[in-house]
Amino acid sequence: MPHTYLTANVYCRRLFGHKVYKLALSASTDCPNRDGTVGVGGCVFCSTGGSGDFAASSAFSVSRQINDAKRILGAKGEGLPYIAYFQSYTGTYGDLARLEQIYTEAVEHPDIVGLSIATRPDCLGKDELAMLGRLAKKKPLWVELGLQTSNKDTAAYINRCYPLSVYEKAMTDLKALNVHRITHIILGLPNENRADMLATVKYVGQFTDGIKLQLLHVLEGTALADSYRQGEFQTLEPAEYYELVADALELLPENVVIHRLTGDGAKRDLIAPKWSGDKKRVLADLNRMLRAREIQPATE
Ligand code: SF4
Repeated sequence: MPHTYLTANVYCRRLFGHKVYKLALSASTDCPNRDGTVGVGGCVFCSTGGSGDFAASSAFSVSRQINDAKRILGAKGEGLPYIAYFQSYTGTYGDLARLEQIYTEAVEHPDIVGLSIATRPDCLGKDELAMLGRLAKKKPLWVELGLQTSNKDTAAYINRCYPLSVYEKAMTDLKALNVHRITHIILGLPNENRADMLATVKYVGQFTDGIKLQLLHVLEGTALADSYRQGEFQTLEPAEYYELVADALELLPENVVIHRLTGDGAKRDLIAPKWSGDKKRVLADLNRMLRAREIQPATE
């Protein structure tokens, strides 16, 4: 029986009437899991860029960052509308007046049709939600939460520093704001088997509007790199990952938007798995396998 999944591309065409590109911007935030507020050292896989390695420089104004990011995108993005994407660190943490000013400047820019903010579910209190509510009234707002796993032991291993109940409350609160909620999960975390990973997919599918499936990358300069070098775990092989993605797509409800099927780490810092550095080939092999299993993207 063929299975259909909804790609972000098709979702955006339906929502905006066009193809859209994301511009990776920075709001110069920190993370409470790095500065000692809820944890120290951050999630074990997190790079020094706060898992936002492609963002424009935060030293510049939002308008300047938008122009720089458009220039980097080049001809392929010319004339198209954009989503302002604040991925690095925790986008609702810190001076909220300053953050709201930055996000408002982005969302009111004439080339920007929507806003995407990545954050932690434990940084969505009353004031943060009120800010997001005001932004969501201006243009479509996506909020991205890095859950990574539903397994409590793995969450402790990766030093995520919040329980599932906090994620569930955040999903309920964000739904009330009419925000498109995207959950990030990682496939291939240490000590997890196939059943653990698919349990996370099933769990997330109950709550989320969109998902980013990410292959575990071991990056230079992370705590995970030390564990990897000490032989504590192995990364996934291509065929294992492709099978997991296929199983995940079959498990997820068909209305969950698939925003990502592979990783997104900076290639220069990639320690393992090296095969994931060839993104073109990974996508070609993955799509071939999905076709063989009759798993296909929805059409417009
Ligand atoms: S919550 Fe995000 S920014 Fe903070 S340490 Fe974890 S991955 Fe990095």
